[in-house]
Amino acid sequence: MINVQQLHKSFGSLHVLKGISTEIKKGEVVTIIGPSGSGKSTFLRCLNLLEVPTEGKIFIDNVEVTAKKANIKKMRENVGMVFQHFHLFPHKTVLQNVTYAPIKVKGISKSDAEKLGMELLTKVGLAEKANEYPSRLSGGQKQRVAIARALAMNPEVILFDEPTSALDPEMVKEVLEVMKSLANTGITMLIVTHEMGFAREAASRVLFLDEGSVVEDAPPAEFFSNPKSARAKEFLEKML
Ligand code: ADP
Ligand code: MG
Repeated sequence: MINVQQLHKSFGSLHVLKGISTEIKKGEVVTIIGPSGSGKSTFLRCLNLLEVPTEGKIFIDNVEVTAKKANIKKMRENVGMVFQHFHLFPHKTVLQNVTYAPIKVKGISKSDAEKLGMELLTKVGLAEKANEYPSRLSGGQKQRVAIARALAMNPEVILFDEPTSALDPEMVKEVLEVMKSLANTGITMLIVTHEMGFAREAASRVLFLDEGSVVEDAPPAEFFSNPKSARAKEFLEKML
């Protein structure tokens, strides 16, 4: 599904990603963990070209998205993203947030988009908030809307960048529950998170990033019980 070859990213003289190579199969649920500043967000943002890699290649569904002629718009239809701070459209209702891209980008009729939108809002438990504005929702509700919005494009991959980090503790669970139910649907998910319990239970794989490199790549059972590197051990001791 996703193939990354020798990915480098620098911001000026700051070398952030230092040659990441990895492959993610269709339907995998991969959590990316690592210290703050290790390049986790930059890595995710490179995957959908919100950041342009300095070097290296990225293939999604066997199409090189880093190629000069790549159709970035088309790729983004297939790769959804959920951000820490939701990024909802404040002047649109919950339902309009969800239907906007299917109507504008995919050209789906308003009534079909609304039908789909209501199905997705039901899935994330927010059908009754369809006509509210985001400002009237809790953080957990906003994030569930953001997930429904990403799903509305029917992407094959969703990238989550610390989806629960901006939430009050009592709201983390409702968002993780939605993500767990998604993890069972066969959609490919990459999730940057500090929720070790989620990584342990819901992920098929953990990538541990440190200083711009993938230091470990293992199933969660193995990673959490027997981290190989000193850096991962040290990180886990602080987290758990
Ligand atoms: P993480 O998500 O693991 O905390 P980031 O990918 O956000 O790490 O950041 C990695 C490093 O890259 C940090 O030192 C950060 O300051 C730097 N960085 C990230 N984005 C930019 C940017 N747009 N311009 C300059 N430096 C950046
Ligand atoms: Mg980050």
